[in-house]
Amino acid sequence: TGGTEEAVDIEGVEKVQTRVTYSIVFVTSEAAPYSKTGGLGDVCGSLPIVLAARGHRVMVVSPRYLHGGQADKNYAGASELDCHIKVYCFGGEQEIAFFHEYRDGVDWVFVDHPSYHRPGNPYGDSHGAFGDNQFRFTLLCHAACEAPLVLPLGGYTYGEKCLFLVNDWHAGLVPVLLASKYRPYGVYKDARTILVIHNLAHQGVEPAATYPNLGLASEWYGALGWVFPTWARTHALDTGEAVNVLKGAIVTVDRILTVSKGYAWEITTVEGGYGLHELLSSRRSVLNGITNGIDIGEWNPSSDKHIASNYSVDDLSGKVQCKIALQKELGLPIKPDCPLIGFIGRLDYQKGIDLIRWAIPELLEDDVQFVMLGSGDPLYEDWMRATESTYRDKFRGWVGFNIPISHKITAGADILLMPSRFEPCGLNQLYAMRYGTVPVVHGTGGLRDTVQAFDPYSKGGLGEGTGWIFSPLSKESMLAALRVAIMTYRDHKSSWEGIMKRGMEKDSTWENAAVQYEQVFEWAFIDPP
Ligand code: ADP
Repeated sequence: TGGTEEAVDIEGVEKVQTRVTYSIVFVTSEAAPYSKTGGLGDVCGSLPIVLAARGHRVMVVSPRYLHGGQADKNYAGASELDCHIKVYCFGGEQEIAFFHEYRDGVDWVFVDHPSYHRPGNPYGDSHGAFGDNQFRFTLLCHAACEAPLVLPLGGYTYGEKCLFLVNDWHAGLVPVLLASKYRPYGVYKDARTILVIHNLAHQGVEPAATYPNLGLASEWYGALGWVFPTWARTHALDTGEAVNVLKGAIVTVDRILTVSKGYAWEITTVEGGYGLHELLSSRRSVLNGITNGIDIGEWNPSSDKHIASNYSVDDLSGKVQCKIALQKELGLPIKPDCPLIGFIGRLDYQKGIDLIRWAIPELLEDDVQFVMLGSGDPLYEDWMRATESTYRDKFRGWVGFNIPISHKITAGADILLMPSRFEPCGLNQLYAMRYGTVPVVHGTGGLRDTVQAFDPYSKGGLGEGTGWIFSPLSKESMLAALRVAIMTYRDHKSSWEGIMKRGMEKDSTWENAAVQYEQVFEWAFIDPP
């Protein structure tokens, strides 16, 4: 497999009516609205529907998480299938049940097992990541390999000639299982697999001694076997030997996709490759990037049910009402003309929260308001609470995961700040632009691909661009970009409106991406490595 040819560019693939349709099986740890902690959930909740509408038969396999809260109701439409199977891993037979809901043309299949029923989110709780995640996602992969063979959905199974879209490390064992457990017996010999990398920072790495748990033949150890770099070892006697599920997927899949073109290149570099850059470079000929689309039904300022007043590019008047409502709801002074900066996202090193933290005292010397929504690292959660009491009139930090509030901030803010260290695609900047909220982003990955830097002088002085891109990643360059944005908002109203409108009119629908996905599907079948 592999090769060193240059990646094939798929941007600009012609929009043609699909001629070939596929049986597609998404395998994912998240699918909105059933489960979501980030962009993975959004993508696996919306792309399957778009592909189904284009004529493909689409199944999504993910766990049936029951956290004991309101969100459990998300699974109310799914009923248990009369199909219990046993899979062999972790030293024994594990019994799994399946639930199913047919919605929006898609077969949503939920793998049921007691290990998915516990408080928290899909990956952990307030004490950190669950200790048995390797077990939980190994189960998911074994179940997903069986699903097309055993589940008679709508009367008949998907069968062996299907296309698995495996998302991130949680689904990474699927291609390894196909290669090691099924194909030697002639099963799935006509199936294809595509790995979609949403975030390379998470790879499913565990001690080498856990390999026998995975239910793989011993001679396949080499596919997953990995050695930690010396600096990452904890002890002089530590040999660094580990199993890396994502690595196993990279070496066994037919093709690899990332969620933006920029990120497809970044993961082949030392800085962005998280130890896998050489391996990924060796597979460059089957590696592409396709920028995520957005669900324009869910994210539409003219019909959004979560916001105070609907608006559109033709009539922006509702936007300021959304800002006033947000200020009221958060107890900030009602100041319609005061620049309001928003941040939404996981409180994680990746998202550059440390930069925001350093910049806040200087930024808030100005007459601006700053609203943050996020959860994650307890250090930053505490900092948000403390900052709120220091700057009562200027700062609000909403700790938690709250979808209605995320819509309210997206609509009510003037500027959305994303100082991500790396960003495979990033969805919030796409949502922001659609809501006329101007993104100020670090120039990395999907952020650089999707935000066009504002240039007031081009087009004969009319200006073009949809936001600001700063680089390098430093407090100073972030503050400089924010200050130019704030100055433009205050003093150059018509330029500002131009930036807003160009963002709102940008086509970020899934349709564009779906056509590119179909091209990659075709390559997977006609051009096996
Ligand atoms: P990532 O996948 O790295 O978390 P993305 O920008 O691709 O980042 O996607 C994040 C998604 O999760 C967006 O839909 C965003 O609105 C949502 N999100 C993140 N944090 C929160 C939160 N605290 N409350 C509500 N939605 C959130």
